[in-house]
Amino acid sequence: MFDCTGFASHAADQPLSPLRFERRDPGADDVQIDILYCGVCHSDLHMARNEWSNSVFPVIPGHEIVGRVTKVGANVTRFREGDLAGVGCMVDSCRSCASCKEGLEQYCEKSFTGTYNDPDRSTPGMRTFGGYSKAVVVDQSFVLRVPANLELAAVAPLLCAGITTYSPLRHWKAGSGTKLGVVGLGGLGHMAVKLGHAMGADVTLFTTSAGKVEDGKRLGANHVVISKDPDAMASQVRSFDLIIDAVAADHDINAYLALLKREGTLVQVGAPEKPLPVAVFSLIGARRSFSGSLIGGIAETQEMLDFCGEHGITSDIEMIRMDQINEAYERMLRSDVKYRFVIDMATLEPVPAA
Ligand code: NAP
Ligand code: ZN
Ligand code: ZN
Repeated sequence: MFDCTGFASHAADQPLSPLRFERRDPGADDVQIDILYCGVCHSDLHMARNEWSNSVFPVIPGHEIVGRVTKVGANVTRFREGDLAGVGCMVDSCRSCASCKEGLEQYCEKSFTGTYNDPDRSTPGMRTFGGYSKAVVVDQSFVLRVPANLELAAVAPLLCAGITTYSPLRHWKAGSGTKLGVVGLGGLGHMAVKLGHAMGADVTLFTTSAGKVEDGKRLGANHVVISKDPDAMASQVRSFDLIIDAVAADHDINAYLALLKREGTLVQVGAPEKPLPVAVFSLIGARRSFSGSLIGGIAETQEMLDFCGEHGITSDIEMIRMDQINEAYERMLRSDVKYRFVIDMATLEPVPAA
């Protein structure tokens, strides 16, 4: 074990604060990484505030991790000390179920091990703690290679926001000729706009924020619709093949189901606290599908990073200090993010031994 410092949520109604905690020493298959930057996902906020009712405190959030390798175990072949590396939402899985064998570890039938807030499969009795911390130890099979040509801090959000939007775009074959809708211009939504545009789709952004119209176009949207405008929404009925909904809060999804063509699909990636009611006649009346998608497998995450390297795609980020995280959460709740907060981990002071 070694001592590490992180920034933790200790209870749903408390601000995050520094915490000294223990990490496992790297085993034969492990890579130890000094964390340089960590993105701030809305899931971190849901989990820090127990909005999905499964948080085990203390929670150290953070699953958009980039950093430098400082140690490797004896069996590690893919990384060397000094390499840059990335870690996303998963650090392990059962590796033997049908989903794991197909490279879809995110749908592991025995549950993947989340980067935070999960029991650590490799070390009974320990739990996983995320990237709002100085260092992390991860099995090499769950560590990603980072494209060298991209700005490192702006790569961090690709590890969750990037793969969570890339995976459904690929699964539902977004490309030239696809009429793609993206709902919500936050961390996930802005990556869906960039990636959908790079894949050749005709992208329409739906936003509640009139102030994001120009940014939406700059990021790659061909059209921007203010979703609060009923006439603008009515003009889009039955026109989309695929809609990616990345909204983190309660909202009317039936308004978007109506915008799908016959046999179109609405993919929910946003994970609001409360159930979303579905008007079934909207599905029945045009053989539409309402679906969901969870992050992406490790191989697909590497494919996404390589795709971003080739196309020069990164996240638009606002760098913050570790001690600005509570303020950043409040801004995220006001949809005031352009378009991902990233924590500069050099600003986290190690907590001395008591
Ligand atoms: P975010 O940066 O906070 O973005 C959410 C966006 O949704 C906002 O910027 C806003 O965009 C829009 N929005 C917020 N409140 C709204 C409301 N009441 N009605 C309509 N639109 C609203 O969040 P994020 O990090 O992108 O995460 C989005 C959601 O995805 C979260 O629930 C997160 O937990 C979930 N998530 C899921 C996965 C997965 O694997 N499926 C992975 C990561 C995250 P506008 O200002 O443009 O309207
Ligand atoms: Zn996330
Ligand atoms: Zn499995």
